[in-house]
Amino acid sequence: MDKISLVVPCYNEQEALPYFYEAACKIVSEMSEQAFEFIFVDDGSKDNTLEIVKKISVEDKRVKYISFSRNFGKESAMYAGLQNATGDYVAIMDADMQDPPSLLPEMYTYVTSEKYDSVATRRVTRDGEPPIRSFFARLFYKVINKMSKTDIVDGARDFRLMNRKMVDAVISMEEYNRFSKGIFGWVGFNTKWLPYVNVERVAGETKWSFWKLFLYSLEGIVAFTTAPLAISSILGFTFCLLAFTFMIIIIIRTMLFGDPVGGWPSLISVMLFIGGIQLFCTGILGQYLSKAYLETKKRPLYVIKEDNFS
Ligand code: UDP
Ligand code: MG
Repeated sequence: MDKISLVVPCYNEQEALPYFYEAACKIVSEMSEQAFEFIFVDDGSKDNTLEIVKKISVEDKRVKYISFSRNFGKESAMYAGLQNATGDYVAIMDADMQDPPSLLPEMYTYVTSEKYDSVATRRVTRDGEPPIRSFFARLFYKVINKMSKTDIVDGARDFRLMNRKMVDAVISMEEYNRFSKGIFGWVGFNTKWLPYVNVERVAGETKWSFWKLFLYSLEGIVAFTTAPLAISSILGFTFCLLAFTFMIIIIIRTMLFGDPVGGWPSLISVMLFIGGIQLFCTGILGQYLSKAYLETKKRPLYVIKEDNFS
């Protein structure tokens, strides 16, 4: 009998959690051929999420929970869940029902076939999302896929079912700056993509502000491509060439026509422009340096306050 672990990261999900648990239980009872395990990861919630999870875990022996000492972010929560999952297959699901549990049976049939090691979901519409956010999201996927060799799929959600081999591969990537969408692509394996129409969260509100998403996208770029570093070197080189050409032109012009002192405004503009580019490139360098700095500290990805594993 196969065992499936459902990893559910939760941050302030007191409103949505009961709905999720009820819906998931319904599907679980329909899949009577498989054993199930729930792993709720409370990511330092400030509301009653932990109390709700604890209550469920007392009534339902399949429910395990981990509670962090503070909010470490969804990436850490997913990692903790994967590390503690004991199933032959592991699914990562949001607590807000945006990852419909009803897809599980179909996902399971794919992943048990020889061909696929994981089944991932991709939303085909971005309905219910502010247009500006959709625009930047699309732009981000275009940019990162141009720059990175790892395939990062537009609209991919973290909702996926993986077999043990793939889970172990993901766990073996112990980096501090985690960007799961890239990690899943990087480890390889055969993935079946299930497109589905975006569902709005059942209760509560999104934990991702525009700013949080922006920082997360930078994380993705820095973690999965070093192209910006190459681009800044190329920029620097191009400007050196340009400057050299200008110098030659100015020398020749001065020898032919004497010494014209005009051209101050253009000089200032050029100086400001080059200064800007320099700061921009130093900034890029700084991003990589800061990530490398954090990696070398080897801090744990999360700190557990309590759990019910032992
Ligand atoms: N989440 C988390 N830690 C965080 C932010 C979010 O564990 O710091 C969880 C959250 O409880 C939910 C999932 O990650 O189960 C997705 O979050 P959300 O629904 O807010 O994101 P969205 O669906 O709007 O992208
Ligand atoms: Mg959501």
